[in-house]
Amino acid sequence: MTDTTSDAASPTDSPSVSSSASLPVSPSLTLLGLGAMGTAFARAWLAAGYPLTVWNRTPSRAEALVAEGARPAASAAEAVAASTLVVTCLLDDASVGETLEGADLTGKDLVDLTTGTPSEARTRAVWAEARGARFLSGGIMAVPPMIGTPEAGGYVLYSGSQDLFEAHRTTLAAPAGTRFVGGNPGHAALQDVALLSGMYGMLAGVAHAFALIGGEKDIAPAEFAPLLAEWVAAMSGTIPQIGEQLASGDYESGVTSSLEMQVAGIKTFLGTAADQNVSPELLTPFFDMMRRQAETGGGGEGFAGLVGLLT
Ligand code: NDP
Repeated sequence: MTDTTSDAASPTDSPSVSSSASLPVSPSLTLLGLGAMGTAFARAWLAAGYPLTVWNRTPSRAEALVAEGARPAASAAEAVAASTLVVTCLLDDASVGETLEGADLTGKDLVDLTTGTPSEARTRAVWAEARGARFLSGGIMAVPPMIGTPEAGGYVLYSGSQDLFEAHRTTLAAPAGTRFVGGNPGHAALQDVALLSGMYGMLAGVAHAFALIGGEKDIAPAEFAPLLAEWVAAMSGTIPQIGEQLASGDYESGVTSSLEMQVAGIKTFLGTAADQNVSPELLTPFFDMMRRQAETGGGGEGFAGLVGLLT
């Protein structure tokens, strides 16, 4: 199977106009990996009119997409051969290596949307370049229903070859927003993991909060939930100040809720957890750090000083 509408020669991948029918012609691409996320990307590209070649280890997962207009490839190597732009959305980095093992990547633009560590992305970039391909790593900041739904706000962080990104930015932007975060191929993965880590910290607090009210018959979790969501959203407004303080090295200016004041309140949190028969295990490591920073001269600071305790 060959690519008849390759965009390799175009400086950008904006749809061109076919001379015969005067209809916009979208550049073709290949997608390997049709799990929940890969399928969502495939549907978005098909809906936007992109000729799409697909391959999946378990072929039956391609059937619905083929019925919607995707071209099936019999092997990963055949799928790679079909387009200049090759996208992988597989389980993990090992499955990317396995899948592309026998494929000829010479002259290909490989975009890997598979979640992995920064060092895996950097190693994969060297691996791809050694095989003659340009490489871009993507970190998907969305869940499948957000793909192809611009108003949902999902986006993909990209890092690696800026030339590749610029050449295919219109195609890459069809399923979700795009943010190029630099030439280091590991930086999309790093920022992806950093953002998700912030989310897990938030969800740890959310779990503790629901546990606190869990024993009360007259506080319905569904009624409490919007209060919690509003509060957490409001508190996220303090994040930019932490970033500014880390950049300036001044952790005290503008602080209105000092660590000293907050450390004094820890007994209230632990006492409330004990009263409600809730384990404080999600909060105590953070409280311990707050105490440590306050006791070593950081009592007038906010949270910026805690970052240094981790490194
Ligand atoms: P799924 O588990 O739904 O799909 C996994 C895909 O990887 C399938 O196509 C599977 O093929 C394939 N695969 C697994 N192992 C191999 C292998 N050894 N060789 C070839 N193919 C293999 O995962 P998702 O589609 O949800 O996720 C894909 C990527 O997107 C992951 O890296 C995930 O972290 C990332 N992501 C997912 C999000 C989500 O909410 N779903 C959110 C953000 C990122 P087969 O069908 O044959 O099993």
